[in-house]
Amino acid sequence: MSQNTLPKLFIPGPVDIAPETYEAMCQSMMGHRGADFESLYSSIQPGLKPILGTERPVYLSTSSAWGVMEGAIRNLVQTKALNLCCGAFSDKWFDVAQRCGKEAEKIQVEWGEAIDPEQVRSKLAEGGFDTVTLVHNETSTGVMNDLAGIAAVVNEFPDVLLVVDTVSSLSAVPVEMDKLGIDVVLAGVQKALALPPGLAVFAISEAALERASQTPGRGYYFDFVEFEKNAVKNNTPSTPAVSLLYALKQKVDSIMEEGLEQRYARHEKLNGMVHAWMEKHGFKNFAPEGYQSKSLTTIDNTDGRLDVPGFIKAVRQKYNLLLNGGYGKIKGSTFRISNMGNETEASMQELLDALDDVIVDFI
Ligand SMILES: *Cc1c(COP(=O)(O)O)cnc(C)c1O
Repeated sequence: MSQNTLPKLFIPGPVDIAPETYEAMCQSMMGHRGADFESLYSSIQPGLKPILGTERPVYLSTSSAWGVMEGAIRNLVQTKALNLCCGAFSDKWFDVAQRCGKEAEKIQVEWGEAIDPEQVRSKLAEGGFDTVTLVHNETSTGVMNDLAGIAAVVNEFPDVLLVVDTVSSLSAVPVEMDKLGIDVVLAGVQKALALPPGLAVFAISEAALERASQTPGRGYYFDFVEFEKNAVKNNTPSTPAVSLLYALKQKVDSIMEEGLEQRYARHEKLNGMVHAWMEKHGFKNFAPEGYQSKSLTTIDNTDGRLDVPGFIKAVRQKYNLLLNGGYGKIKGSTFRISNMGNETEASMQELLDALDDVIVDFI
């Protein structure tokens, strides 16, 4: 069913889709105001909740992650946002907050560095903030931030809500929303969840729901209060991408079957294989020790040793596999390999063997 002329994706999103997922999407259409839909919706909840680490309902938004990222700003920021910026996606969130007409300040670290919880504490201590945004796994740089450490700091400030983007970490590593006291966990589904793009999943705390209900100008499509009102009826505010919900149901079932712990362990192992390949060829991780993503690897090529576009093109031509040549301002000075989603030891080995073969012509 997949188009086998297109390369298999090892870019960090969208990632390769399982044939069973494509098949699930081809089920008959249904109306979304009725028992069939409600039963589909409710059947997904028990599997999704542990993935987000929450007892709260998980809302389904027909949008990419940015819809909910912008929605979080519009629903929650009344006084001022603090955006924790360490790469393309987290930097953009600061810009989006301003575009929404909100007051916003940022903590900016260099791309390739992680957010320091101490810095968050001193900034919040200045006062005036009501919302913090964090990208857990900064997909552009391969930096995985200290989610527990940052959440603990934000929780020292009871009036400040923490919004966390887990687009490229959800289900690859534990995300403990309730335990860590996170107010919003959100993810688009085309990265760590390995579904086609077009859907986002998110959950919000009671405090976030309460805040949203008091925030003017939050609009309709991403109104958290509307999501809650519909969720109690196992439904969505507007017509959802039902085919993607079929896919989500298949995916959540398969994750439950694999087991979350096993899924985390698999990601860790496959990520280790990429690290070993990287080191074997004398490359370094762009992310520092202790803050390296488990779902992708951003490889440092700042010395320009590798002709990244040439290498990627050659891998695609010879093996029909696709890597990513670096994001935004670190394009070419880094390149990225994803191990998220459905990959196995065998599929990663196949990739790394192909890279071994091609790289001899380049370094
Ligand atoms: C890809 C990505 C996004 C943006 O997702 P869209 O699907 O383009 O909305 C946001 N955050 C992170 C961490 C991402 O990797």
